[in-house]
Amino acid sequence: MKPNVIDEIVKNDLCIGCGICAGVCPQKILKIRGNEYGEYIPSEAQVCDSHCGLCLEVCPFNSNENETQMGAKIYGSTEGIKYLSETGYYLDSYAGYSNEFRQSSASGGMATWLLTKLLKEGLVDYVICPTPQKNPEKLFSFEILKDENSVKAASGSVYYPVEMSEVIQKIQEVPGRYAVTGLPCFIKALRLATQKNRKLRERIVFTIGLVCGQMKSKNYTKYIATLAGNGNSRKIQEVNYRGKSPEKPASNFYFQSTDEHGSQQKIFWNEGVSEAWANRWFTPNACNYCDDVFAELADVTFMDAWLPEYSKDSRGTNIVLVRSPKVLDIIQEGIKKEEINVSKISVEKVIQSQAGVIELKRKQLSYRLYLAEQKGRKTPEKRVNASKDIGILKRREIKLKAKMQEESKQLFLGCYQDHTLNIKTFRDGMHPYIKQIRPLRMLGRFAFPIRIIKKISKVEGKKK
Ligand SMILES: Cc1cc2nc3c(=O)[nH]c(=O)nc-3n(C[C@H](O)[C@H](O)[C@H](O)COP(=O)(O)OP(=O)(O)OC[C@H]3O[C@@H](n4cnc5c(N)ncnc54)[C@H](O)[C@@H]3O)c2cc1C
Ligand code: SF4
Ligand code: SF4
Repeated sequence: MKPNVIDEIVKNDLCIGCGICAGVCPQKILKIRGNEYGEYIPSEAQVCDSHCGLCLEVCPFNSNENETQMGAKIYGSTEGIKYLSETGYYLDSYAGYSNEFRQSSASGGMATWLLTKLLKEGLVDYVICPTPQKNPEKLFSFEILKDENSVKAASGSVYYPVEMSEVIQKIQEVPGRYAVTGLPCFIKALRLATQKNRKLRERIVFTIGLVCGQMKSKNYTKYIATLAGNGNSRKIQEVNYRGKSPEKPASNFYFQSTDEHGSQQKIFWNEGVSEAWANRWFTPNACNYCDDVFAELADVTFMDAWLPEYSKDSRGTNIVLVRSPKVLDIIQEGIKKEEINVSKISVEKVIQSQAGVIELKRKQLSYRLYLAEQKGRKTPEKRVNASKDIGILKRREIKLKAKMQEESKQLFLGCYQDHTLNIKTFRDGMHPYIKQIRPLRMLGRFAFPIRIIKKISKVEGKKK
C-alpha cells in the first residue's frame, strides 16, 4: 500500500494547497477544502482503497525530483540555453513593460500582454489564471478563459489562496491547448502531473511563471482589509493588492477593498501592509521549505524590476526570464512591432533584482531546515543543506519571523468573530515580536557595513 498526501504532506503541515493532487486523483477521492487558517488543503471525501500513490507523485512538497533535475529534462537540450543555480535554465532576459496593460497590471503588464497575445495569435485556445469572483468567501479562483477581455480583467497579483483541482479535471475533459499561470511550486506540480498524465502533457502548451517570495492565507486579506478600514470580511466583494499611485514609487503600491455598495478603502504598502508581509504573518508553513525563486520549470517567468533604475516609476516595470524558444520569438516580434517597450537586461541584473528572495530561499532556508531538524520535523529534500552557518543577528531574525508566522495564525483565530477581526487585540498580541525585531534589523543595517569594512581592512592588511 503506497502512502498518500494526507499522511505524508498535510499531516506534516507541508501542503501549499495547489490542488493538483485532487485534480489528478483517478477516483476523485481527494477534495480541496479551506481550513480555519484560511489555507487550502486536500481531504479524503471517502476512504481511499486504491492507494495508487499518484497524489504523492505530483506533489511539489514530496521529495521527488528537484527543479534542477526536471529543468534539465525540459530545457537542457534547447539550443542556446544557459544555466545558473539561482535562476535555473534560461535563454534570455528582458526588462520593460506593455503600454496597453501596464496600468491595470501588477508590474509592467507583460504577463497579460503575453497571455492575450497567445489567444490572439491562435497559439492557445484557453488561458487558465486566477480570476476575481466577487464572493467574500472565495475572492479569487483559477478559471478557464477564452477571450482577451477576460484575461485583461484577471490581471494583477493575487496574494490569496487559489487552487487548481477543478481546472485540472476540466483540462482532462475538454480537449484544447491551454496556457497556465502559476507560482513556482504550482508550476512544479503541473510539470510532475504532465509527466504522469498524457492529456495534461499534450494540452498544457505554455506554462507562465511568477517569481514568488511567499504566499498568504485568506486571513491575511481579512487582516489588511480591516487595517484599511473594511472591518467586516463578509462585505468584501473585490480586492486589488497592487494599486498604483502616480506620486509614489512602484514599491509603495496600495491595497484596496471594495464592499457590496461599491465603497472603497485603501491602504498603502508602507502604512502597515509591509509589516505583515515582511514578517511572514499568515504565510503557509510550506513556503518555509521552498528553494525555487524564478519558477525554474516555467516557459517564461515574470517578476518586478526591483532595481533602483526602475522602481521609482510608479507605473511598474517587469523583468522577464525566458526559457522557451517559442516565447522568445513572440517577445522579439512584440519588440519589432512596438507592442511592448522592453530591452535586454543581463542575468546578473535579474539576480540582483531578486537578491532578497534568493537570500530567503537559499541561505535562510538552510537555517530553517536546521531548526526543523532540531525539532524533529519532517521537511522535503531541498537543494541546500541544513546549516546553522549564518550570522547571529540573522539567526535571531529568522527565529522571530517563524514565531510571528505561527502566532499570527493562532492569534487571528482568537480575535476573529462574526466576520470581524478585533484588530487592537491582534496587534497587541503581535507587538512584543515587533518590538524585538525592529532593533535587530537596525543593528543588521549597521552590521553589514561594519562586516564590509572589516573585510576590506583584512584584505588591505594582507596586501601590506
Ligand atoms: C504570491 C506572489 C508572490 C510574488 N512575489 C514576488 C517577488 O517576491 N518578487 C517579484 O519580483 N515578483 C513577485 N511576484 C510577481 C509579481 O507580483 C507580478 O505578478 C509579476 O511581476 C508579473 O507582473 P505583470 O504586470 O506582468 O502581471 P499582470 O499583467 O498583472 O498578470 C499577472 C498574471 O498572473 C496571474 N496571477 C496573479 N496571481 C497569481 C497567482 N497567485 N497564481 C497564479 N497566477 C497568478 C494573473 O491572473 C495574471 O494573469 C509575486 C506574485 C505573487 C502572486
Ligand atoms: S499536491 Fe498540492 S494540494 Fe496536494 S498535498 Fe501537495 S501541495 Fe497539497
Ligand atoms: S514561496 Fe514557494 S511554496 Fe510558497 S507559494 Fe511561493 S513558490 Fe509556492
